[in-house]
Amino acid sequence: MAKKKIQKRATPTIKKEKKNLKFIFISGGVISGIGKGVTSASISTILKSRGISVSPIKVDMYLNQDAGTIRPQEHGEVFVTDDGIETDQDLGTYERFIDQPIYRSNYITTGQIYAEVLRKERAFEYGGEDVEAIPHVTDEIIRRFYQAGKGADVVIIELGGTVGEYQNGIFFEATRIMTLRNPDDMIHIHVAYLPTPSYLGEMKSKPVQQSVRTLNSMGIEPDIIVGRSETPMDDKRKERIALFCNVDKKSVLSNPDVKSIYEVPVILEEQNAGDIILAKLKIAPRKRDMQSWRNFVRQIRSTKKELSIAVVGKYFGTGKFELADSYVSVIESLKHAAWANKTQVKLTWIDAVRVEKDGAKNVLTGFEGIVVPGGFGSRGTEGMIETIRFAREKDVPFLGLCYGMQMATIEFARNVAKLRNANSTEVDTVTKHDIVHIMPDQEKKLLVKDYGGSMRLGAWDCILKKGSKAEALYGVRKISERHRHRYEINNKYREQLEKEGLIFSGTSPDGKLAEIIEIPTKRFFMGSQFHPEYKSRPMRPHPMFDGFVKAAIKKPKIKVKK
Ligand code: GLN
Repeated sequence: MAKKKIQKRATPTIKKEKKNLKFIFISGGVISGIGKGVTSASISTILKSRGISVSPIKVDMYLNQDAGTIRPQEHGEVFVTDDGIETDQDLGTYERFIDQPIYRSNYITTGQIYAEVLRKERAFEYGGEDVEAIPHVTDEIIRRFYQAGKGADVVIIELGGTVGEYQNGIFFEATRIMTLRNPDDMIHIHVAYLPTPSYLGEMKSKPVQQSVRTLNSMGIEPDIIVGRSETPMDDKRKERIALFCNVDKKSVLSNPDVKSIYEVPVILEEQNAGDIILAKLKIAPRKRDMQSWRNFVRQIRSTKKELSIAVVGKYFGTGKFELADSYVSVIESLKHAAWANKTQVKLTWIDAVRVEKDGAKNVLTGFEGIVVPGGFGSRGTEGMIETIRFAREKDVPFLGLCYGMQMATIEFARNVAKLRNANSTEVDTVTKHDIVHIMPDQEKKLLVKDYGGSMRLGAWDCILKKGSKAEALYGVRKISERHRHRYEINNKYREQLEKEGLIFSGTSPDGKLAEIIEIPTKRFFMGSQFHPEYKSRPMRPHPMFDGFVKAAIKKPKIKVKK
């Protein structure tokens, strides 16, 4: 009897697959880093604009179970969802494009898949079968793909890495099996790069043909090919790709470099991407509505004025791209707010260590606003504190995000409340004035080396102080924002700091956790324990960034000496 029960649970998941749920698999070819995430987000946007509900998934091929334990320089920014999973930055791109929250089930890593298969094996859930890559691992992948599609019409799955990599083969295999079972409901889009070598001056399509061959060797035929290139792909290139890759020419789409990623949905729709995808997925045609995107793109293009903002952080690699990757949501949030205020944002990246070496005045003079974003560990913290002191004393609009807020409180404690050597216990474990200290439950976790996915994560409510700038910006008293931290402001010092003029304008509903600080006498001086950058949207900038940008644009009144 018991055995029968177990066997029932071990039945492959095929029967549970929702009928008519449609899937788009998006793979990459030739090189990585060509904007597969933006292409996936744009396709989601195009479908959503036609009234189709979408569920975008990112698959990462590494064995980490989430992105939380990977260095930002290695992997780029860690994005956090409302339900508190630490994910790849592509989920942030999806959320920004489709303007809908995405949840835990939409981020899948090889580590998660194997952890679950191994758990099931130990729990005898395979009922005595030998556990194998196919079908057990592929079934677990397929089960998760369907699970993430709950409530949606179309699931858009971005497969990380490039086709042909040994480690992502099992995911391709799962997509092949799904296509075999339900050929009418699945399409494969291959996003590949067409180089234009400078010595030739000609765009070459051969690498795309080669990567499609690799895809073919796994039993997968692409339905649509998206060519990434510096300039738009011409007809000749499209014809060659169509002929050699076995697709119709209108299904070869050009996705050239553009000034702003938000142009991509418009560019793809100009080539009828939506109609082509719907036809291939056997979904009845629907009218498109891209007018708001079109207007938005036009507005971005026509904005010429510039606002110079310094971002003083620590996760700076060597190349420009690494810099951008570590703080991508912060960059996008600043752009959104700037565009809404009819300006472009000109960002300058400053390693906090440079401020320590060269002095805040030398490094920071001339910027119209200063941001200190999130971070961990002690390197660069003195530079951040000096930066914040400069911003406060010179009254340059300042925004501190998470670590930036903690550092701002420490700066205020040291230089205004005269609490010498005030610090965070993350930096100085024996500091006399532990203005920032570890949260009690977090301390326990660290003691048992419980590092993965164990911070205070995801959305938490916050109550805003009546009459504060934060309340004025949000326009409501209760907000919800996303967090990712282990340390908090020490309540022991709150009263003292408040007496000196630092306002705790946002707290957790029970009042125990300080979530927002501000100095009301300044043009703009605000910091938040949460990460507002996760919730900014291109056409709906975040109130905090909006307030910061507005203050930075508004020139300070010049004090006339009497
Ligand atoms: N290191 C700080 C903490 O853990 C801040 C974290 C962050 O900036 N995300 O509390």
